[in-house]
Amino acid sequence: AKRVYLFNEGSKDDRDLLGGKGANLCEMTSLGLPVPYGFIITTPTCREFFESGNKLPPLLEQEYRVALDLVEKEMGARFGDPENPLLFSVRSGAAVSMPGMMNTVLNLGLNDEIAAGLAKKTGNPRFAYDSYRRFIQMFADVVMEAGGEQFEHEIEKYKAAHGKTLDTEMSAEDWQEIIRIYKTLVDFPEDPFVQLKMAIEAVFMSWHTPRAYVYREMNNIPETLGTAVTVQAMVFGNFGEDSGSGVAFTRNPSTGEAQFFGEFLFNAAGEDVVAGIRTPLPVSELKVRQPQVYEELYKTQALLEKHYRDMQDLEFTVQEGRFYMLQTRSGKRTGRASVKIAVEMVREGLITESEALMRVSPEHVEAFLHPMVDPAEKTNIVATGLPASPGGATGKVVFSAEEAVEVAAQGHSVILVRRETTPEDIHGMKVAAGILTELGGMTSHAAVVARGMGVCAITGCSALKIDYAAGTATTKEGTVVKRGDIITLDGTAGDVMLGDIPKKEASSSDDFQTLLSWADKHRRLKVRANAETPEDAAKALELGAEGIGLCRTEHMFFEAERIDVMRAMILSETKEERQGYLNQLLTFQHDDMLALFKVMDGLPVTVRLLDPPLHEFLPHNDDEMAALAKRIGKPASKIREITEGLAEVNPMLGFRGCRLSVVYPEITEMQVKAIISAAVDAIEEGYKPLPEIMIPLVVNVREIRLISEIIDRGIQAVLKEKHVSVPYRIGTMMETPRATLGADRLASEVEFMSFGTNDLTQMTYGFSRDDAGKFIPQYLEKKLIESDPFVSLDQRAVGRLMEMAVDESRARNPSIKYGICGEHGGDPRSIQFCHDLGLDYVSCSPFRVPVARIAAAQAKV
Ligand code: ADP
Ligand code: MG
Ligand code: MG
Repeated sequence: AKRVYLFNEGSKDDRDLLGGKGANLCEMTSLGLPVPYGFIITTPTCREFFESGNKLPPLLEQEYRVALDLVEKEMGARFGDPENPLLFSVRSGAAVSMPGMMNTVLNLGLNDEIAAGLAKKTGNPRFAYDSYRRFIQMFADVVMEAGGEQFEHEIEKYKAAHGKTLDTEMSAEDWQEIIRIYKTLVDFPEDPFVQLKMAIEAVFMSWHTPRAYVYREMNNIPETLGTAVTVQAMVFGNFGEDSGSGVAFTRNPSTGEAQFFGEFLFNAAGEDVVAGIRTPLPVSELKVRQPQVYEELYKTQALLEKHYRDMQDLEFTVQEGRFYMLQTRSGKRTGRASVKIAVEMVREGLITESEALMRVSPEHVEAFLHPMVDPAEKTNIVATGLPASPGGATGKVVFSAEEAVEVAAQGHSVILVRRETTPEDIHGMKVAAGILTELGGMTSHAAVVARGMGVCAITGCSALKIDYAAGTATTKEGTVVKRGDIITLDGTAGDVMLGDIPKKEASSSDDFQTLLSWADKHRRLKVRANAETPEDAAKALELGAEGIGLCRTEHMFFEAERIDVMRAMILSETKEERQGYLNQLLTFQHDDMLALFKVMDGLPVTVRLLDPPLHEFLPHNDDEMAALAKRIGKPASKIREITEGLAEVNPMLGFRGCRLSVVYPEITEMQVKAIISAAVDAIEEGYKPLPEIMIPLVVNVREIRLISEIIDRGIQAVLKEKHVSVPYRIGTMMETPRATLGADRLASEVEFMSFGTNDLTQMTYGFSRDDAGKFIPQYLEKKLIESDPFVSLDQRAVGRLMEMAVDESRARNPSIKYGICGEHGGDPRSIQFCHDLGLDYVSCSPFRVPVARIAAAQAKV
């Protein structure tokens, strides 16, 4: 197959073959934009390279040499020709964007002779030798893996010895001297074609750098994809004061405002902007100094956004007043920005509502739920930088990624403070609550990565001077922030504050509400919440819940003044004694249910009967038992005896769930009376309660029949006195493998079924939920499982049980309502699966409700 494509031979639809960067360079070329010409070696070639033990296919060089000839013709210069040299960049680029994760080599094709030729031909020796030393440095670092710092160190040493500080103070002679020093440090190949071949190999190899690996893990990018290699004619932003490089976004990537936004450095190569080693100027500066270049840039960004129908992130270079495009791609953005952009693009007629829904990731939605620093509480501002990624965060100051990982592992929230960040810091950024850098702009590595991760960040905070060795950051006024100090970042305003400054909930935006309303219009799955208290229920309702899918009644009994009644009930030795306490519990439960029904007026409330092992309610040590003995007037010895009798070797598989109803029907009867009498009272007060009573941990139909009788008894007892009709339903949880395997029989006895996927996962795997933390990380690391089955539903096995259960149940009882109320109900991938299964609703924690609404709509689109 063809392994090499010229820029005029591909299009944006060739991402898989040419990588995103290559495909977009082709697309821009065919749009007639000023793109330095080049060719691309395909991603399948990368896979071939790995398969043959990191060797380039034998005929590849021949093939790219043909392409190279054509590039020389197009550019009117020749690779390796000292009279008229052509230089290349050798760039990585996978089908999926992995910004900065792989390697790129610039200014390739230089040696002593060619550098002298370049100096002569351009009449700009300073530029020629600056480019040459950059090349040696990069080639040594990336291709020869000779370590980059020693080179920077030599520059620092040289500058110090000659009384210089800035790169711009370095003359051609200075750079030549640096090059002489470099050549004592590395022995690099003089032959440009050897350089090219080695660089191509190095770019392929960079697919396997540790940082690229971490990035793929984080973003679920398959290991097998591989990268393409783009070989492109160089243009030079470091040519002089009428040259420079920039990065721009067609809209503000932080706020989403429809406003062209970019940064530019005069007399600098593109790598200087991306690396964040100098703080760039706003792109509007170009308007003043090179208006015609600005004009061209502005037109280009508008054209690209319209063409791609999405916000674009551009890299461009200006050489001697001429404008060149080097890259375009969909811009990374914050959650807020993604929502605003999606909604506004629908209004502008650029995309449809369904497309807008697909543009927003469920994680992005969380940005609207993340806390912000309360403006009214802001004090102790010690420095202000660029508001690179919004939200507020407080934590302990650390100065390295390693420290961040260490301190975070101790359970602390950390703020990672760096001069700048590089892709090597990614593991530290991953665990940080906030990121603060001294250098770099809104498009620096720190800013881009933080926005992608939804972590708050401040960059370019030049008012702070960071001293790694001392472990301090010092403000202009002399305030010293030390390692371990607590600081707060306001990523929305760019302010750094001492201490823990209060946060407030993110205010909901109109755009967000609009998007959610579109989600509601497009989704089929209903979204309910898991909630017990009226407060949680109200929050869930506010966030769009359409009912309660799981009310765990036991939570109501753990509260301070109730737990003793619960304990006394459990410790009762006679039916009469127990009944006395049950009557007290009934009052509590009735009041709770009434409050819940009022909040959830007109919406279904699924109440699960008592589920946990009773032992969980009882005291665990002698002191507690003695204290309880006093409070409830029962001998401590008796309490110990009964408690020990209830102890279980394996409580999660023990005396719990509906097994409690079988042994203590009076508890179930009490719960039912409470629920139904609360419903009656709610109706009498003019509300519309819709109680659904759910039986947990069922394994067979006889349990359901027995417990349904108990439930009926409870209901009749209430309705005998009150002549009100209460619309209630009885249903079962589906959380044991046996229940799912006999689902048709269960379905004939109930009106609804709800998957309890926490228990179902636990029992299908035989992994105890409470102990799995000890080995799941190892399982993930060793790739024995792809993801934690307690986080994202295991579709293969647990999902198969669910699928069988749904099909069989529906065949027997077509009117059955089916839901899910495990943790998975809030996980976007699992929601997609539930949609495909044809469930009626998912139920999740209140704060996940908006995420679930969007995910449910995406499942349908
Ligand atoms: P990354 O994927 O890490 O962004 P790139 O391949 O985009 O790596 O290269 C990094 C930077 O190198 C670019 O932003 C650009 O400024 C510079 N660069 C790449 N190719 C060229 C070129 N042909 N001419 C000038 N600069 C280039
Ligand atoms: Mg790039
Ligand atoms: Mg359960």
